[in-house]
Amino acid sequence: MATAIITGASQGIGACIARRLAKDGFDIALNHYPSDGDKEKALAVAEECRAFGVRVECYAADVSKFDQCETMVKQVKADFGTIDALVNNAGITKDKLLARMSEEEYDVVIAVNQKSVYNMTKHACAVMMRQKHGRIVNVSSVAGLYGNPGQMNHSATKAAIIGMTKTTAKEFGSRNITCNAVAPGLIHTPMTDVLSDELKAKMIDAVALKRYGEPEEIASVVSFLVSDDASYVTGQVIEISGGLSM
Ligand code: NAP
Repeated sequence: MATAIITGASQGIGACIARRLAKDGFDIALNHYPSDGDKEKALAVAEECRAFGVRVECYAADVSKFDQCETMVKQVKADFGTIDALVNNAGITKDKLLARMSEEEYDVVIAVNQKSVYNMTKHACAVMMRQKHGRIVNVSSVAGLYGNPGQMNHSATKAAIIGMTKTTAKEFGSRNITCNAVAPGLIHTPMTDVLSDELKAKMIDAVALKRYGEPEEIASVVSFLVSDDASYVTGQVIEISGGLSM
């Protein structure tokens, strides 16, 4: 049985990816932020995943912390024996126009969204290299491709993730490890529920399909990228935005 680690999987896109990969037959290592609220939500997601007959364990770790990622990856390897897929999904926003964005608001988003990809990829790749097999999917954003007012911090991390994806693909390709990114547009999750109705309407107007994306529509592309069907796809960025930019 293959094992997938999904970061930030207690809700939103990460939870949906966990359910989809469980349905695909992956055993699931479900990461959540170390708080009681996240633990409770992660346990509920884990139960939903187990309904597909796979093994699921939850791991509390702040993915912005190098040592917590190292400990988590070691524990997943000890528990499951292999790490076949890693989905770097965890992310936060601290949106403000640059003139008002504090240094703290910039730094925390860099740590959670970007450093986490370094932390998790470094430790998971050490396992995948020995296996001579691995699939990594990084969750970027259209903000990283085109920029977005009020998201200097977020767009910086999501653009960086694209560079990190291509670098990982080049460094580890000879070990049969692929690394790709997905770049979601406006997706219906707790992260976007907080946006003003005015901003949502403006964003949807720019989308060819004239609607939000659903987390399932991200999970289905991730499902493909970690599957055998995507064995010759690496270093790519797949935009999933309903035609935001063409
Ligand atoms: P979400 O509903 O807020 O989920 C993000 C998850 O990441 C939450 O469970 C969150 O836990 C977790 N997380 C945050 N910091 C963490 C940390 N330090 N360690 C471990 N877990 C942590 O957001 P989402 O919309 O599903 O977003 C998932 C990913 O998609 C993010 O990378 C986001 O940037 C990207 N994305 C989303 C959209 C969209 O429209 N929704 C568009 C483009 C890209 P807490 O709840 O405790 O913070």
